[in-house]
Amino acid sequence: MDGAVAIVLAAGLGERMNAETPKALMPFDGTTVVARAVERASGCSSVSNVIVVAPAGWEDAVRTLVEPLGVSEIVTGGATRQSSVSAGLSLLEGVERVVCHDAARPLATAALFERALDALEGWDGVVPVMPMIETVKRVRHGRVEGTEPRESLALAQTPQAFVASALRTAHARAARDGFEATDDALLLERIGFRVRAIEGERTNMKITTPQDVRLAEALASPNGSRS
Ligand code: C5P
Repeated sequence: MDGAVAIVLAAGLGERMNAETPKALMPFDGTTVVARAVERASGCSSVSNVIVVAPAGWEDAVRTLVEPLGVSEIVTGGATRQSSVSAGLSLLEGVERVVCHDAARPLATAALFERALDALEGWDGVVPVMPMIETVKRVRHGRVEGTEPRESLALAQTPQAFVASALRTAHARAARDGFEATDDALLLERIGFRVRAIEGERTNMKITTPQDVRLAEALASPNGSRS
């Protein structure tokens, strides 16, 4: 099968970081959040091309960071994650498989990209998940209203792999219906495409706050997630 294209989503403004630069451009473990995510995506032998979706006004800054890694396709993102994915999709031509990855998860390993793409055989989409290990409470205004059965719940991660035509259809239908989601897998699930769950990586945390940067750097240390 031909090589897959990775769309690395770095266009979020990261308002919860309270920083002047968008989250993806922040220093991380001797590099930057976006450069590390791109390195991991390009490190996957099934990925032949990487597209980076950059925040409006930060395209040149992102280019400077990722060009040394051999990545030159930069596209301007939109106001939502979903519109940023659509911007990336608009650059794709003649590609069979796409893998969408949040730059905010710079610790995802190249091996996880590989597993997600391998698992796509016979499916429309693949999402790495982690089981819920804590007991899950339903809480409203500080009062516990119930406890959810956690056995059937899982936390979704990226990279998520897709058959390109299915992802395009799912995005077009969501745009037509005015439906907005926080991940791409949901766009396929809601219209009946078959999405497979595979095991994610415990260390594949999502960076949201400044504390998360320090935590992720600790995980990226030589004893943590390195490959
Ligand atoms: O905001 P959040 O952390 O949920 O974003 C998840 C990922 O989607 C991040 O890597 C962020 O850069 C990206 N994103 C984007 N365009 C947006 C919003 C988020 O590319 N408008």
